[in-house]
Amino acid sequence: MSGEHIGLVGLGNMGKPMARHLVAKGFSLTVYDVDDLLTRDFAQEIGATAAANLAELGEASGIVITMLPTGSVVREVVTCDGGLAGRMSAGDVIVDMSSSEPGGSRMLADELEKSGVVFADAPVSGGVPGAVNGTLTIMVGAKDAALVDRLRPVLETFGKKIIATGGVGSGHAMKALNNFIAGSNFASASEALILGERFGLDRAVMLDIINTSTGRNFATENLLGAQVLSERYNSGFTLGLLTKDVGIAATMSEELEANLPMVAQTGSWWRGALEAGSSDDDHTTAYRHWSAIAAK
Ligand code: NAD
Repeated sequence: MSGEHIGLVGLGNMGKPMARHLVAKGFSLTVYDVDDLLTRDFAQEIGATAAANLAELGEASGIVITMLPTGSVVREVVTCDGGLAGRMSAGDVIVDMSSSEPGGSRMLADELEKSGVVFADAPVSGGVPGAVNGTLTIMVGAKDAALVDRLRPVLETFGKKIIATGGVGSGHAMKALNNFIAGSNFASASEALILGERFGLDRAVMLDIINTSTGRNFATENLLGAQVLSERYNSGFTLGLLTKDVGIAATMSEELEANLPMVAQTGSWWRGALEAGSSDDDHTTAYRHWSAIAAK
């Protein structure tokens, strides 16, 4: 066994592989998901303890990781009646690794301060393959360097690059900005393929050229061929989650009175795709929506 007892809340596409790494590296781990059956089966499969509820997990753990869909779900599991915070002790840490709103994270950290429970944000980039391979990039917003050092052995179990970004909320701000770039790259590369096809170019040939040219990016290299042209639409990252992330960046632009045009446009572009589909669809299905608009 190594280090402190860890709790992990949220056993989805990302939380499950992260939990596997923690157990494989010798951490003693308690897990919880709102899906009871999933919690029990998965805990048994990896050799972790299944918590019957959030309070049980909070009481058992010195460090609790949340890997949940949104910041409002994180707030709910931390502050609700029978939630994490009620049973955690002074000096314990909640580290939110979801992609949440930076402002909400700062508020939660302030609210928890009275009880001595420390809140940090450590969102990740690298997708499901990064979580499975233990190669995630992790951006840590924490009150001081000592807290980053305390979290580092835990984060290193699934992260290859761990970077302190500043105070609480700064990791979440950084993550939203990264995903704004990823979302706008996917949208612009989709438009290029749609437009090129209309001109008479072959989409596979276009990707072949783009991927050894200056237009290449994560979307052209990993998504448009493997997920869109193949019609697999199974990247492991949903339309609802990417739209949320780009929306967080767009809101930052408004709140900071920057009012930048690209981030606002990218936000509404993804919202349109979400309205045409459903939040559980893979985010790469947005291509079909934009393609349909172009066909009108
Ligand atoms: P997911 O939807 O696959 O998993 C979320 C899990 O949380 C589910 O198992 C769900 O049952 C559980 N859950 C929901 N509400 C709960 C509650 N109240 N209590 C306990 N459990 C609850 O999502 P994911 O793809 O694993 O993403 C998790 C977070 O990581 C999101 O914030 C996402 O934006 C971020 N993220 C995802 C990826 C990716 O490629 N999937 C990459 C980087 C970051």
